[in-house]
Amino acid sequence: MATTAVLRLSGNFSQSWNSILCRHLSCGASRNVFNPENKEELSHSTSLTTVRSKSTEVAPAAPKKPYSPFQVPFKGNKAEYALARLDDLINWGRKNSIWPLTFGLACCAVEMMHFAAPRYDMDSYGVVFRASPRQANCIIVAGTLTNKMAPALRKIYDQMPSPGWVISMGSCANGGGYYHYSYAVVRGCDRVIPVDIYVPGCPPTAEALLYGVLQLRKKVKRMNTLQAWYRK
Ligand code: SF4
Repeated sequence: MATTAVLRLSGNFSQSWNSILCRHLSCGASRNVFNPENKEELSHSTSLTTVRSKSTEVAPAAPKKPYSPFQVPFKGNKAEYALARLDDLINWGRKNSIWPLTFGLACCAVEMMHFAAPRYDMDSYGVVFRASPRQANCIIVAGTLTNKMAPALRKIYDQMPSPGWVISMGSCANGGGYYHYSYAVVRGCDRVIPVDIYVPGCPPTAEALLYGVLQLRKKVKRMNTLQAWYRK
């Protein structure tokens, strides 16, 4: 008697579980799939192969975007069109020659060195480290910025030619990090200089910094220097 009750209970359980599974998988199975007389339907409906193949399907290619972010029509204002193309040209040159200053302040600097090492080959993106702010157009603030170092950071930022970009690397540079409550630490380098890209992490990996540089390249590509000057 007890065995029959258990069997019935387990039968009901597996039936309801199956109906839930089938509803989730949208396999269109009917409620009687666990009917032992209907073995063919059973094996088909409980298979996850369809779902797996769907999940690993290659997504259709996204429509190709135009290179330029400035879609000024040629038939419109000719001066605006020419300035848009000139902006494209200038941005192309700028984004392919980001020269960061070597400015390592603490442990994050080790990841910055890793980023500059041959594995990531940042030279192929035109990223070449320079030892002087006069020859650099980007600062990677890699490490903890202390109150004592803050005036020096501001000074070298001012010595960089314009336009200069800033990448804040790691929790310390982003907002003080572990040393947020220290009396000696600046709570974010953006209190001293304007920051373009924040790379989170403690320390961020070299790949994270690489991603930050790629984001900076995107930002540079959208600069509209000449068009903004023309509109004034
Ligand atoms: S964020 Fe972490 S790894 Fe980077 S300087 Fe601060 S403590 Fe060091």
